[in-house]
Amino acid sequence: MDLPDLAGGMRGMDLNLVRRALADRMAAVDAAALVRAARRYGRTALDALLPPLCLSCGTAVDTPGALCAACWSKVEFIAPPVCACCGFPFEVDAGAEALCAACHAKRPRYRRARAAFRYGEDSRRLVLMFKHADRLDPAPTFGRWLAQAGGELLADADLIAPVPLHRWRLLWRRYNQSAELARAVGRHSGRTVVPDLLVRHRRTPPQADMNARERRLNVAGAFRIHPRHHALVRDKTVLLIDDVLTTGATVEACTRVLLRAGAAAVDVLCLARVVRPQVRGM
Ligand SMILES: [Zn+2]
Ligand SMILES: [Zn+2]
Repeated sequence: MDLPDLAGGMRGMDLNLVRRALADRMAAVDAAALVRAARRYGRTALDALLPPLCLSCGTAVDTPGALCAACWSKVEFIAPPVCACCGFPFEVDAGAEALCAACHAKRPRYRRARAAFRYGEDSRRLVLMFKHADRLDPAPTFGRWLAQAGGELLADADLIAPVPLHRWRLLWRRYNQSAELARAVGRHSGRTVVPDLLVRHRRTPPQADMNARERRLNVAGAFRIHPRHHALVRDKTVLLIDDVLTTGATVEACTRVLLRAGAAAVDVLCLARVVRPQVRGM
């Protein structure tokens, strides 16, 4: 999902022009190699010298990659009972096969979705810093949380793949947060990660202010399988990784592409999900 860029405050300037110019300049450079080099030399040396800090607020903690007690208590982790399909958290346990009202009305194309925590006022900060603040240090912790939330999904997965960014946005952000999450989950589970299984070949405007229908239209036809990986998908169970699940429009668009290419099933694992109250009996 797309959230408002931090650069949103600079809207007075024509950011698209700036980005385009930057993308043109960088086109000749291997951006991925630059990012890898920056990561290698950027943080590791400093991190070894500094005391570990809370991922969210920066107060001192005992172990690297941890949250302080105050920040930890604000993260609303999602645990069963949840909707068997989309992972919507239930207040009462209606059985392992129970579906939420939305899934009863219309099943998503993906088989199952799970998320580590609710996307709320407090947890939003964790997601945004990972997405925009050039901070990769939470990745191992997030990978652990994802592995916990998606245990069943990981057990069935043949391949792990992130929801891709368009290459221009990748240049702007320097890394795809979903790909970093996918790598972190891969390290935890030992499953194969294919970071470029899907590509976003059409640029899509940020979706933060769009409703479900607008989001669906926004991402329709935006994704395809990387030509190199076409044969890889057939008969495989693919686990898609994204940072935030909102209406599910983005992961549904990716799922459609994967199923069309012959994937046996697609599951979705996200760091956070928006939980809006559902109307009973829908
Ligand atoms: Zn804290
Ligand atoms: Zn559901």
